Amino acid sequence: MRVEGVVQGVGFRPYVHGLAHRLGLSGRVGNDTAGVFMEIEGAEQVIREFLAALPAQAPPLAVIERVRTSPLVPTGEPGFHIVSSNAAGRRDTLVSADSATCADCLRELADSTDRRFEYPFINCTNCGPRFTIVRDVPYDRPFTTMAPFAMCHACASEYYDPTDRRFHAQPVCCPACGPRLRLIDAEGTELPGEPLAAAAALLRSGAVLAVKGLGGFHVAALASDATATALLRARKHREDKPFAIMVADLDTAHELCVIDPVGERVLTGRRRPVVLLPRRSHAPVAPAVAPGNRSLGLMLPYTPLHHLLLRDTAGPIVLTSGNVSDEPIAYQDDDARVRLSGIADATVTHDRAIHMRTDDSVVRVFRGAELPVRRSRGYAPEPLTLARPVPRPILGCGAELKSTFCLARGQHAFISHHIGDLENYETLRSFTEGVKHFRRLFDVRPEVIAHDLHPEYLSTKYAHDLADTELTDAELVGVQHHHAHIASCLADNGEVGPVLGVAFDGLGYGSDGTLWGGEFLLADLATYQRRAHLVPVPMPGGTAAIRHPWRMAAAYLGSDAPEELARRHGEHWDSVLAMASRQVNAPLTSSAGRLFDAVAALLGIRDSINYEGQAAVELEQRADLTEQGSYPAGVTEGTALQLHGADLVHAALADLRTGIPPEVIATRFHHGLADAIVRVCRMLRETTGVSVAALSGGVFQNVLLLERTVAGLERSGFRVLTHSRVPPNDGGISLGQVAIAAASLHSADSC
Ligand code: ZN
Ligand code: ZN
Ligand code: FE
Repeated sequence: MRVEGVVQGVGFRPYVHGLAHRLGLSGRVGNDTAGVFMEIEGAEQVIREFLAALPAQAPPLAVIERVRTSPLVPTGEPGFHIVSSNAAGRRDTLVSADSATCADCLRELADSTDRRFEYPFINCTNCGPRFTIVRDVPYDRPFTTMAPFAMCHACASEYYDPTDRRFHAQPVCCPACGPRLRLIDAEGTELPGEPLAAAAALLRSGAVLAVKGLGGFHVAALASDATATALLRARKHREDKPFAIMVADLDTAHELCVIDPVGERVLTGRRRPVVLLPRRSHAPVAPAVAPGNRSLGLMLPYTPLHHLLLRDTAGPIVLTSGNVSDEPIAYQDDDARVRLSGIADATVTHDRAIHMRTDDSVVRVFRGAELPVRRSRGYAPEPLTLARPVPRPILGCGAELKSTFCLARGQHAFISHHIGDLENYETLRSFTEGVKHFRRLFDVRPEVIAHDLHPEYLSTKYAHDLADTELTDAELVGVQHHHAHIASCLADNGEVGPVLGVAFDGLGYGSDGTLWGGEFLLADLATYQRRAHLVPVPMPGGTAAIRHPWRMAAAYLGSDAPEELARRHGEHWDSVLAMASRQVNAPLTSSAGRLFDAVAALLGIRDSINYEGQAAVELEQRADLTEQGSYPAGVTEGTALQLHGADLVHAALADLRTGIPPEVIATRFHHGLADAIVRVCRMLRETTGVSVAALSGGVFQNVLLLERTVAGLERSGFRVLTHSRVPPNDGGISLGQVAIAAASLHSADSC
């Protein structure tokens, strides 16, 4: 038998050993580069039983993708054996994602008679660090950052015992042989005492701490402490973007937020993302944690260190990435010391190195499933299985914001962890090193390199550099941004189209050289046609309009804008109006994100932003969920249908003038846009005959818009595809690029 999937480093061989023993079968099991192989000998009926039980009772971290069997001549040899690894040949095995501490390890952690009592690095085959500590494959201790720690006798006997829960658990260790925690002050001097108890005491007294986690350093402060959280915000130079909160357990989570069973399942699952949840009005959380937001991002502890720290702190803590504003998160001790010295009063650190920087993942919950916002720690590098195998290895380089890349070979698409906004040297270096690491881990040499059409994206330049230097025989494929969004939604759902793809986002480079972002594409994986879009409007000052949403209100409303809005911006207002009307330094865009900006500024919710998408986020967060009203928007026919976003802005203005509260207007705007999307899709169904819709682009992270759109489409008889495995935002673009490049290879091959 051959078993493929995530079957190494997850306790699969001891599991097989145990199962065979129980059933009285003889034979052997081992790892090789393709996965797990075994020979099973016994009565046919018992072997059938074994085959049925194999996937059903597999260890928690195992993902079985394929089991293949073929008959062998019986040898008559007694017993069942685990044979040693064979590292030669092509690497087809999968590296698993980091996984939260399991229940068995937590029990030992709390047991004063256990030799790992309160040891912050306890782990086993069913839990612990994986992707973040792997330097190379095969996944074996010498190729991880645990290599410097020689196992003590007790750990080694567990490691080599096939009946033990720690059999071949590569990061296995204990207080006698493993990593050690330290608490150091801002000068780098080690503080005396038990590090976690001392760290918790510091947090309780209002200090800001740096804490070395699984994929990088966090900075922490007591979530209920107004002074400490405000201090943390000021020191990080992060003005408004909400901080995530770690709570000790599910009961505490319920005190802060309203959580349904799906939310509970995601919070307590082994991936442990930050889950965005509706906040309770009296939640004891300081205002600086999530200003202007009625959601909180909660996560449960995912390492033993977190469990111990939260227990000692006795209250929820802010746990946010260890960086200054938009830099990548710090993950090496020396670097953290330099970069976090101005932020943290003290640092909890240890001597197990982090090899791969990995941020916390972030999800929302939509209709009983996860809606990913950021796919990273706990998910990467697990592959998505493609509907059809790719004929040649492909690299998708992604876009610019929320950057990821994607490597595909055979049936598998390996989407990278979240890398960040590719706007500075540090992030670009993370990106290029990440690509190298993935290529080594999964043994892929790309023969096709897919990239965005935007000539100025660093990811586009990287694609060209790679094809000019190292991979000179590789083929370059340029992929339109919104087509990639729709393809990512198709791949997310294992489908190939055709669909009516609704791609609503901030901005993407259109095939006509203008900026798109409110698109209706008739698309499959190979091709697309732009069948409808928002009416383009000028973006006064170009990128300045992205940072200052009030400029979009000026562009949409012109001289109709309320006096009060014009007055807020003084002399700038007139020059922006002039730019918009003369269309000088004002590129046209059909972006839906910019439409949200205009309404947010009109309602006085957000004039200028300090993180991407802020105006739209706050508009959703302010909306009155009891309101039922909606605004109408016109559609004109032509080669492509034109949806009049300006109608929605004018309707909002009319309501504002009659004294309707901004919260009500915000809802009516969301409803109006959703209803307009449904209407355009119905019109397109008439002309195309396609009755499947796919919703993608960062705007569909907005659950208020998403819910209304999906419900309206379904009422109209559409089947609707949304995201549940990769984010609808630009974090999913690399997968879409790969899917499109693969489809173009397929059609080229069949010609
Ligand atoms: Zn465990
Ligand atoms: Zn040990
Ligand atoms: Fe986009």
